[in-house]
Amino acid sequence: MTDALLGVYNRAPLTVSHGQGSWLFDVDGRRYLDCVAGIATDALGHANPVLVKALAEQAAKLWHVSNIFRIPGQEALAERLTGASFADVVFFGNSGSEAVEGALKTARRYHFANGQPERIDVIGFAGSFHGRTYAAINAAGNPSYVEGFGPRLPGYVQLTIDDEAGIAEAIARPTTAALIVEPVQGEGGARALTGEWLKRVRDLCTQHGVLLIYDEVQSGMGRTGKLFAHQWFEGVEPDIMAIAKALGGGFPIGAFLATREAAKGMVAGVHGSTFGGNPLAMAVGIAAFDEIAKLETLSHVQAIAALLKSELQALAARNPDIVSEIRGKGLLIGLKLIPNNRDFMALARDHDLLVAGGGENCVRLLPSLLLSEAEALEAVKRLELACGTARE
Ligand code: PMP
Repeated sequence: MTDALLGVYNRAPLTVSHGQGSWLFDVDGRRYLDCVAGIATDALGHANPVLVKALAEQAAKLWHVSNIFRIPGQEALAERLTGASFADVVFFGNSGSEAVEGALKTARRYHFANGQPERIDVIGFAGSFHGRTYAAINAAGNPSYVEGFGPRLPGYVQLTIDDEAGIAEAIARPTTAALIVEPVQGEGGARALTGEWLKRVRDLCTQHGVLLIYDEVQSGMGRTGKLFAHQWFEGVEPDIMAIAKALGGGFPIGAFLATREAAKGMVAGVHGSTFGGNPLAMAVGIAAFDEIAKLETLSHVQAIAALLKSELQALAARNPDIVSEIRGKGLLIGLKLIPNNRDFMALARDHDLLVAGGGENCVRLLPSLLLSEAEALEAVKRLELACGTARE
């Protein structure tokens, strides 16, 4: 192992060679059932032939031209995204953090364009994760991610999800620009917000001229069984939304979407990205979108999620000393554990099952959206084996 890589990661002792569907193979040929899927990015499984073909065909034609020129793939994917959502306009970047960063910039520019430059404060929530750039770590406010990186950025307000009075008070302040929230908190431990919570916040934001931003980087693109998680509820659409991860089916893409009104401050020259929306990413993005947005994919996610939920609840009932709660939405599932979640991830790996960590001592299952019924049952079987060894 080299010491030439920056030591910021806590890597599992597993070197992956290749993947196929919901399965990963290590360099020694051992096969793992992958319920991490690149942390919810490989939404159509590994080496999906439709995506491989789209990428290979584009790779033979044109990789990159920069945003000095028109890129037809960007226009095609933007039209798909706006056609399937609240949004009128899209900006493409390369990652979730970059999408969040652009969403926050859009919100502040909106108020600037409206002659209210004093509206700069962004409300964020404990348990959130928005990425690792400066704006993203300040918006989420997780102390262990901001500590040691100098003073916190001004203009970020930290609240808790259940502080109803505090939320109403903060939204009503004349200096508030925006509120950013994940409809299903992912890294925080698969915590799904209710439709009532979202509706209340939506209405308060509308009432006070505050822009509502959803971070659907993890919960979006089919993960919950709707194209976007907030689409489970009526009347809760945001003004701006950040997406990434599954948008490229594992290829790096990010985007923020906005209504034309919310985006009105984002005029020529105020924002940009060299690689964002490049032809390779767009070709894969279009192919991924067309596969994910299909009714049969979304209903498959709903069916597999329902099966997993009932099987996992039964597993929790059989193992109350190990699993205290099953939560999340769709195929963004959290198992809240009694033993340490990092230890449990290693035990699951011993049984050839890969799961992701999460806040509040959860492990998350974020499998391919195409996980089969047999694979779902196999995952539960392996979790049960891990519960057994956790008890030893
Ligand atoms: N927002 C959410 C909700 C996320 O889950 C993540 C990544 N885990 C990000 C933002 C950041 O995305 P990226 O790592 O691509 O910058």
